[in-house]
Amino acid sequence: MPLSLYNTLSRKKQEFQPLHAPQVGVYLCGPTVYSEAHLGNARGPVVFDVLTRYLRHLGYQVRYVRNITDVGHLESDADTGEDKMEKAARAARIEPMQVAQHFTNRYRQHMLALGCLPPDIEPQASGHIIEQIQVIEEIIKNGLAYEVNGSVYFDVPKYNEEGKRYGKLSNRSIEDQLAGTRANLEGQSEKRSPLDFALWKKAAPEHIMRWPSPWGDGFPGWHLECSAMSRKYLGDLSDIHGGGLDLMFPHHECEIAQSQGSHSHTDEARFWVHNNMITVNGTKMSKSLGNFVLLGDMFKGPTGPLAFGYSPMVVRFFLLQAHYRSPVDVSDDALQAARKGYRKLMNGLRLLDKLVVSDSLSVASNKEAQALTTDSQQLTTEATQLLQLAAKPAEFLNDDLNTPRAVAALFDLLKRFNTLAANPAALAEVGPAALAQAAGTYRTFVQDVLGLGDEPRANVEDLLTLTLGFYSEAKADKAYDKVDQIRATLKSQGIVIKDTKAGVEWAYSEE
Ligand SMILES: [Zn+2]
Repeated sequence: MPLSLYNTLSRKKQEFQPLHAPQVGVYLCGPTVYSEAHLGNARGPVVFDVLTRYLRHLGYQVRYVRNITDVGHLESDADTGEDKMEKAARAARIEPMQVAQHFTNRYRQHMLALGCLPPDIEPQASGHIIEQIQVIEEIIKNGLAYEVNGSVYFDVPKYNEEGKRYGKLSNRSIEDQLAGTRANLEGQSEKRSPLDFALWKKAAPEHIMRWPSPWGDGFPGWHLECSAMSRKYLGDLSDIHGGGLDLMFPHHECEIAQSQGSHSHTDEARFWVHNNMITVNGTKMSKSLGNFVLLGDMFKGPTGPLAFGYSPMVVRFFLLQAHYRSPVDVSDDALQAARKGYRKLMNGLRLLDKLVVSDSLSVASNKEAQALTTDSQQLTTEATQLLQLAAKPAEFLNDDLNTPRAVAALFDLLKRFNTLAANPAALAEVGPAALAQAAGTYRTFVQDVLGLGDEPRANVEDLLTLTLGFYSEAKADKAYDKVDQIRATLKSQGIVIKDTKAGVEWAYSEE
């Protein structure tokens, strides 16, 4: 079964085939870098990291773009309120770009800790003003945008008159959209229709982040950057555009309208893929509700609803234990269960390092290795069963990236490895080739596809203190072989032991 993904645009699971195989273009809407990232901000990057890792595992050449929003994201979706960056900068009395740089650095650190590979391209909105102005000019030329007092708005009713449908992604009727915007009409007298959205906003005199444009000094509307940068780096029509469910409307809806209204005339992406939200006691985690858990605090703990800290790898595993389209409720119980599961998977890697078929017990291993590639009929029952278990994780990921079922399949496979470890006769019947293949699959899925690595290990300082204790004991016992061995081992790590009047100490080797 090939890979299928749920496409929000068609509202069904569709087989995924890239437009220009083997290349695949993936765009993920990145963070607005005006504050610390919380757990809700991590779900999309983790999900789309696994998707891009899996696409690469399938042999595709992926170009993964994850943007940084550093301008244009206003407090309200109705194009009103302050720019989030400027507001944070004013509060801290620093440059908006200083705010952006600081939180961009923090975001990257957190994403790396969570095992997310850096994107191939990480474009910033403020670095693509020219491209955004170009898209606006195209939309005006196509008669779908208008200028008022130095601001430019997208003309939604006109767009709909031309047979397009603003609302097709989120499946909202015009009536629903109007009902949603009525409460926000204040300060929008420039718009011909409350459905219209800003492509360019005139900058007030006190506004710091401003650029010259054909319509005067101003700044781009938030939705525009993704259309402009997706087109620049992935072409008029990319393969996959991702983001949280909360971005589907209005952000992604506007992106599609902008791309359709520009010279691209496309839906911008063929697959629109949305991850669900993180909840706390069933309520969506968000800055506006004040029930969020910051990633930095969560890694240390305790914080908010959590009584303990959890390592980034445990958090990653926790997120992957749910299907990306389901909500995930965060709690100590759920995270502790995740920690147990994560460590079990990691111990599986250690078991596999030790699991070998002894030569004396192995049944005609060469012949069997051939059978693996030629005729599965010749495999022993044990080998066949093991390989069937090993095929499951891929089957589940192919089914709309079902990570929880893929994880469960890896646990089933691990259970079989444990049984085989306790039963050398059965292991011999599996044979080295089938064992190597199944073990390779396990390692690949745990490490390369799910992206699970080691947690930071025990505190080095504690281990050194323990070792110095053993050293002192060995010395008191006059066990000089052991004394020399401890000295040599530490030396190889750049550490020397010093016997002082005050006792035993360690120092960095200066040799
Ligand atoms: Zn976006």
